[in-house]
Amino acid sequence: MDKIDVVIAGGGLAGLACAYRLADKGLQVIVVERGDFPGSKNVTGGRLYLMPVRSLAGDMLDDAPFERKVVRERWSLLGKGNSLNIDFTGERFRGEDHSYTLLRARFDRWLSEKLMSKGVFVIPKYRVDDLLWEGDSVAGIKAGSEEIAAHVVVAADGALSFMAEKAGLRPKMAPKNYAVGMKEIIELSEEKINDRFNVGSGEGCAQLFLGDVTQGIFGGGFLYTNRDTVSIGIVAGIQGLMKRVPPVEAHALMDAFKEKYEIKRLLDGGNLVEYSAHIIPEGGYNGISKLYGNGIVVVGDAAGFALNMGVTVRGMEFAIASGIIAAETIIAAKEANDFTATALSGYEKRLQETFVLKDLAACREMPEFLDNESFFSYYPDNFPGFLEKIMWFGDGPKEKIGATLWKELKGSGMLSFKRLKELYNIRKI
Ligand SMILES: Cc1cc2nc3c(=O)[nH]c(=O)nc-3n(C[C@H](O)[C@H](O)[C@H](O)COP(=O)(O)OP(=O)(O)OC[C@H]3O[C@@H](n4cnc5c(N)ncnc54)[C@H](O)[C@@H]3O)c2cc1C
Repeated sequence: MDKIDVVIAGGGLAGLACAYRLADKGLQVIVVERGDFPGSKNVTGGRLYLMPVRSLAGDMLDDAPFERKVVRERWSLLGKGNSLNIDFTGERFRGEDHSYTLLRARFDRWLSEKLMSKGVFVIPKYRVDDLLWEGDSVAGIKAGSEEIAAHVVVAADGALSFMAEKAGLRPKMAPKNYAVGMKEIIELSEEKINDRFNVGSGEGCAQLFLGDVTQGIFGGGFLYTNRDTVSIGIVAGIQGLMKRVPPVEAHALMDAFKEKYEIKRLLDGGNLVEYSAHIIPEGGYNGISKLYGNGIVVVGDAAGFALNMGVTVRGMEFAIASGIIAAETIIAAKEANDFTATALSGYEKRLQETFVLKDLAACREMPEFLDNESFFSYYPDNFPGFLEKIMWFGDGPKEKIGATLWKELKGSGMLSFKRLKELYNIRKI
């Protein structure tokens, strides 16, 4: 059977970025995507940190349809009936191209159109359901009765990559290694967004929430401002959700979150225009699949390249970078006319030299560190409570601030061995 150079299964950021670099070097490449168009099935929070990928991406992101440049960061610890908020902005963030919000339906579609103008076939509504094999080498993909033979298959099919599984590159899904993300897009005028989030035109805010969002389950909430919409959502660990008795309805978490005082006023008068849900890899460095085999490489979420750092989720820049680095490896393999695992092993070596595997390795303790209910209930319940005690003036005389704080620290168990150990463990992450 005649083979093309590369078939990419999955038209998300990882697959599209890979195709872009391959097309630049003149390789024949087809991208197949099960959605109605690239972006139609993709979900992100979402904010893209641009700096890690800027030099790798070359001209790929020129004229990208970003929503807003993030210049304001807010972290909120939501207690029961109160909250503690950190609001950060800085000249450096306002001046440099640090991070941008985006909407995947718009962004991925734009990138796929840019690809098509380079002559790449991007085939939507095409669901891959098996791999083609030649002996122990992957030799293409199957979709129903159709087959596309290729020297290399790029598995870019996202968090539940059944292609990596079929190729024997990763074990079946373990709930501990995944979270579910729910997201709504709420339409609000540009002026209201600027006013409510205290940002200028084109500027945006990224807000992360911990505490009374997930009922003590691993996870949190997020809110990102777009041009004339706001993306709001919740991420919750699948294992925590499964273990919870009585069960927690995911949509009930979302409704309660939007009703909170801290959120409701921000969204007031907005219209819900889109709802989506998606799986997120949470295994970190130890959850990464085997990255290559004979005739196949795995990129983006399919490989497990996502990093939850508690105060931010990173996945998109890993997807883009891994797609580009996979393309560079395939280009070298084509020059050597060798598509075996040995030739494609260069992919992992290249990743080790970049932020992708360096950052994931540096944060390898993060999933274990965050696997602790205290971060999702105890601390968010107590820290805002301390402030409330200090700021509350009742009908009797007011105690000294130091005395109040000391009493609260002791009474809440904050000085116990367990809490001090948790604080000490921060050095690991
Ligand atoms: C709620 C939520 C919030 C997030 N927030 C952020 C954030 O703020 N910043 C950040 O950097 N990251 C964030 N992430 C993570 C980030 O969105 C992902 O890491 C990123 O989308 C991964 O891109 P990808 O191309 O690897 O996978 P995907 O975007 O999932 O793309 C995979 C593609 O493969 C297609 N596909 C799947 N199976 C098949 C098949 N059998 N045949 C054909 N096509 C198939 C899918 O339709 C999809 O288009 C978030 C994720 C979620 C869910």
